[in-house]
Amino acid sequence: MIASLLSRSIELPERLAPGEAAIDARGVGVEIGGRRILDDASLTVHAGEVVALIGPNGAGKSTLLAALTGDQRRTSGTVRIAGRDLADWSLADLARRRAVLLQENRVSFPFTVEQVVEMGRAPWRRTPREEEDEEATAAALRVTDIERFRQRHVPSLSGGERARAGLARVLAQRTGILLLDEPTAALDLRHQEDVLRLTRECAAHGDAVAVVLHDLNLAAAYADRIVLLSEGRVEATGRPEDVLTPARIAAVYRQDVEVLTHPVSGATVILPVRSSARPAHREVPA
Ligand code: ADP
Ligand code: MG
Repeated sequence: MIASLLSRSIELPERLAPGEAAIDARGVGVEIGGRRILDDASLTVHAGEVVALIGPNGAGKSTLLAALTGDQRRTSGTVRIAGRDLADWSLADLARRRAVLLQENRVSFPFTVEQVVEMGRAPWRRTPREEEDEEATAAALRVTDIERFRQRHVPSLSGGERARAGLARVLAQRTGILLLDEPTAALDLRHQEDVLRLTRECAAHGDAVAVVLHDLNLAAAYADRIVLLSEGRVEATGRPEDVLTPARIAAVYRQDVEVLTHPVSGATVILPVRSSARPAHREVPA
C-alpha cells in the first residue's frame, strides 16, 4: 500500500539524484526583537535520507525549519533548495518541490479531512500531474490511517487524528522534499511508528526528509543523521550513535541518561536516569 503512495506515474524531470543536496543551509542566523534565536546554523539534507532535528524546548528547531521553508526571515546565511537559492524560487515552484507540516497545524474552519488532504494537490493544478490527484489523496488518507474520518470535519477530530490529517495533506503533495515539525507529538505509540516508517519509505523512494522530533529513541531508530540544536546553535551533526552520547545529552538536556544497545536488535536505546523512580521488583499489595 505504501508503494502506491509513492508511485509517481509522471516523473518530475528535475528529480534529484540519490545523495544530491535537497536542502542546504549555511550559517543561518535569525534575530527576533533584537534577540538572537538562531546562530550560524548549518545543515544539509540529501535526497534519500531522513534527518532528525532534535533539541530541548526553545532550542530553535521550529525557527530553523521555518528559515528553511522561507517562512522565517534570516538575518544571515544562505538556504538552497535543490541547488537553487530560496530567493530564486517562485512560491508556486517551491510548493511543487517541498511540502511543509508546521508544528501549529491548526485548521479552525470546518473543512472535512478529505478537503484538507486535497489541498495538498493545489500546487499541481493545471499541470500534467493533476491526473494523480485522486490517487494521491486516496493513498495519503490510507497510509495515515484516516480513511474512516474522510467526511469528518477536522475541528471535531482528536489531536492525533488532526495531526495525521495534516501529514496526509503533506504526503498528498508528493514533492520529493518534506519538512515536518513534530509530526509525532500528538500521536499514540503505533501511529508514531507509522509516521516514522512512512518517512523511511519516502526516503527509500529518493525523497529528502527533515523532521523535528522530541523522542530521542525515535530519532535514533529512524534517522540517518541527527542535527542536535541547543540554545540556537547546532551542537552536533552526525549519525545517531555518534551524536547521542550520554555526556552530550546530559549537557544539552540537563538530564542524565543511559545510552544502551539492545542485546538482540542492536538498536540504540536512551533511558533517563530516574533516581526517584519506583524501585523495580518492589512488591505491590494485591
Ligand atoms: P523549538 O522549536 O526548538 O522548541 P523555537 O524555534 O520555537 O524552539 O523557538 C526558539 C526560541 O525562540 C524560543 O526561546 C522562543 O521563545 C523564541 N521565539 C520563537 N519565535 C519567536 C517570536 N516570534 N518572537 C520572540 N521569540 C520567539
Ligand atoms: Mg518547535
